[in-house]
Amino acid sequence: MTEQLALYGGKPVRDSLLPYGKQWISEDDIKAVSEILRGDFLTTGPAIEQFEREVADSAGTSYAVAFANGTAALHGAVFAAGIGEDDEVITTPMTFAASANCVLYQKGRPVFADIDPITGNIDPTTIEDLITPKTRAIIPVDYTGRPVALDRIRLLAEKYGLIIIEDAAHAFGASYNGIPVGSSADMTMFSFHPVKHITTGEGGIIVTNSDEYYEKLLMFRSHGITKNPSKCRGSEGPWYHEMQCLGYNYRMTDIQAGLGISQLKKSAAFLSRRRQLVNLYLEGFASLEGLVLPPKDFEGESSWHLFVIRLELERLKAGRREIFEALQAENIGVNVHYIPVYHHPYYRSQDFRPDCPQTERFYERIVTLPLYPAMRDEDVQDVIMAVNKVCNYFSKC
Ligand SMILES: *Cc1c(COP(=O)(O)O)cnc(C)c1O
Repeated sequence: MTEQLALYGGKPVRDSLLPYGKQWISEDDIKAVSEILRGDFLTTGPAIEQFEREVADSAGTSYAVAFANGTAALHGAVFAAGIGEDDEVITTPMTFAASANCVLYQKGRPVFADIDPITGNIDPTTIEDLITPKTRAIIPVDYTGRPVALDRIRLLAEKYGLIIIEDAAHAFGASYNGIPVGSSADMTMFSFHPVKHITTGEGGIIVTNSDEYYEKLLMFRSHGITKNPSKCRGSEGPWYHEMQCLGYNYRMTDIQAGLGISQLKKSAAFLSRRRQLVNLYLEGFASLEGLVLPPKDFEGESSWHLFVIRLELERLKAGRREIFEALQAENIGVNVHYIPVYHHPYYRSQDFRPDCPQTERFYERIVTLPLYPAMRDEDVQDVIMAVNKVCNYFSKC
């Protein structure tokens, strides 16, 4: 017997909506932020440097430069890489718009490669054909937290002299072949938006081993100004500072950094909880037909920012839209990550029409299920029950 779907007037699996992602703030975080508020510095104080040092240590890099948000951090990385007018940067369309927007900010042109249909990550075999004399960099994204095959991208980067800026907004704490994400690309960005692994409210960071990029990132986030006498061309007195490039005010506050330091203490626990929840999902869905689950085993360890399932539309009587709406009606906070970047009207208006058949096929089939460390086991069971209910209802067999 099939149960009536909530979409058609049946009783929903849950009484209240389960969001797809959410921060986890506890008393120790509140205490840490209060201490900053009672202290001397709300911005440009010591909490920033401490947060940067701790993130750099966790990623295994020499430097980290904190920004007001992850998008500003990507903008900084594109600036530091020297990307400018007419330069081309290859990236993936299966990402948040910011991964490509950061190139447009500096008047460069994003070029969209296609994706691997299993992982949703950029497909390295589609990159090489897109490289032209104007190509300067590659921005791969660790989609859902699964690290991209950076070793393969590195070979291309070396062959053509390209810079790699890894958008690891999803991949804080992930590793590839045992190497932590952050230590392999020229620059790597992490985001601290509330749905990401740890949060600072808004916030982002670039980690790098390069002295040159480090100096440029510092200037760029603070108006392009340096106060360091050894970097200044002139010297007119103790007040002297120089604006040497067109930067922005992209600084993180100490309030944010204080929250970040406190959240970092829990990042390993958050990560292992995400992995536990994923195991519950994989067990719960093992025998369900009509779904393709995210593959678990590969050369790395995902940080599981998102749990994205793919619908086997050939086995279902409904499309993604109807299934999505049915899950929503069951009070499951589903989502779609992502609308391909070049679908957005702004990109269309600029004549972005890449040939990405795998991206198109993938996009039609994906649904993101809730996943965040504060989720309870019972919440996962609710999602499994709702997905079972909906898929069985729409199953062709
Ligand atoms: C969240 C995110 C960003 C932007 O980070 P913000 O901190 O929200 O500015 C960039 N790229 C990807 C893939 C993201 O998920």
